[in-house]
Formats: sequence, structure tokens, C-alpha cells
Amino acid sequence: AAAAMSHGWGYGPTNGPDKWVQDFPVADGPRQSPINIVPREAQYDPSLKPLMLKYDPANTKGILNNGHSFQVDFIDDTDSSTLTRGPITGTYRLRQFHFHWGASDERGSEHTVDGIKFPCELHLVHWNTKYLSFGEAASQPDGLAVVGVFLKIGSANPRLQRVLDALDAIKTKGKQADFANFDPSTLVPGCLDYWTYDGSLTTPPLLESVTWIVLKKPISVSPAQMAMFRSLLFTGEGESPCCMVDNYRPPQPLKNRQVRASFK
Ligand SMILES: [Zn+2]
Repeated sequence: AAAAMSHGWGYGPTNGPDKWVQDFPVADGPRQSPINIVPREAQYDPSLKPLMLKYDPANTKGILNNGHSFQVDFIDDTDSSTLTRGPITGTYRLRQFHFHWGASDERGSEHTVDGIKFPCELHLVHWNTKYLSFGEAASQPDGLAVVGVFLKIGSANPRLQRVLDALDAIKTKGKQADFANFDPSTLVPGCLDYWTYDGSLTTPPLLESVTWIVLKKPISVSPAQMAMFRSLLFTGEGESPCCMVDNYRPPQPLKNRQVRASFK
């Protein structure tokens, strides 16, 4: 185990998702993510409320290549960018958003729908303000709420382009750049119908603290825009370059869980 993971976890043959259990035994736990969503087996729950996303672009902090994906970070010391209602109770603050994607347009999403893979999946990560910090919330069963949005090949997405234009400045692992005044609600489809289930982080430490809210409706991305995601590197400056692609965990066993739908 020490040898396999000596350079840390990743998505390669020696440190990828099927090796994570060596260092993170919860990888085999009862509520792991992602999952394959089977719409005909999801239970319509009329008590599920509409999602309320309220984001303040002034909270945008910057953009970072973390060596596994890239993330846009938000200032989260006030309740000015929040997720409320939907399947959750209380107020969850936006911490960051990031993406997972494939080496080709045939794969890349973490969740699948009836086994169908999308080329990319957006995750908007929020933490429950009943806890004192993101770090504390991340290990609580109701600590995090992540909104997942599928990207589907279609026309170029001008809202997404604003993010992609920033990637040139963060090509290698550890690079950060200024990124300001972005409204993440522009990346969310007009229809907020969703599936929800209890799950986990999809990257180590795989903590079982996430209420997943996966939107039914995808947003569009062009093939040229997908190519821009793949221009990032897993590797740091000066290392032999390795393209950041296939940074997704495949679906995990549903075990004793029910997926609920906000829509019929
Ligand atoms: Zn993610």
C-alpha cells in the first residue's frame, strides 16, 4: 500500500480509484459516491422542495490547479452565497466548484444515468453553517451538499468560456490565478429538477458527508471547449507533463440507499 500510494492518490493505474481503499478504507463504505442513477427506480418525493441557489459574484476568490482538477474558490465567511431548501434543512455556504472530465467525449462524468456517461460533470460544493467551518462540516453526515450538473456536447457555452479562458494561467499543479466576479448560477440550467441521495466525497478522503443533488437537465459544452479542459496538466512545473484527463471516479454500489426525485 505504501509503495502504490507513495506519490499520493490520483487517477493512474497505480494510484487510481480502485487503489484508494488501501489508504482510505471508507472507499468500501455504505454511502459512497458517485452512483449510477436509474431514473425508473428513483422515488418521486412530493415533499422535496425546489432548490434555492443564491450566489454573490463578489465572493469569487480565485482559481487553482490542485493536481486532480481545477477549482474556483469562494469567500465563505458570510451567508452571501448559499444553497437552501431542496432536500436539505438550514443554510449551506458555497465553498468552491470544480469539474471532472474524460480524455474523450465518450466519458468523464462521475454520476451516470441509466449507464450513460457524460463528457464532464460540474460540482458546486457547499457546507452546512450549523458547523463552524468547512473542515468541521466535511466529516459530518449532514455536513456537505454538492450540486452536480452534467455537461453534454452541443453548442459552445459562453458562461463556461469565462472559466475556460482562465485555465491558461493555471496549467500546472499548484498554480493559482486571480479570478473575480463570477456568478456560478450562470452554469446551472434553467430547470432545477433533481435526484438526491446520501453519499460521499468522490475523491480521498471519500468522507460520507455529502447530500448529493444531481440535476436532471445538462448544460451544453462544445467539443472545442472540452479540449480546453484537457489542456491542463496533473503535473507540476518542471515535471514531465501529464494531461489532466479521466479525473473521475466510476459509479459505486448503491447498497442500502434510495434515490429520490423532485419531479415525476
Ligand atoms: Zn467533484
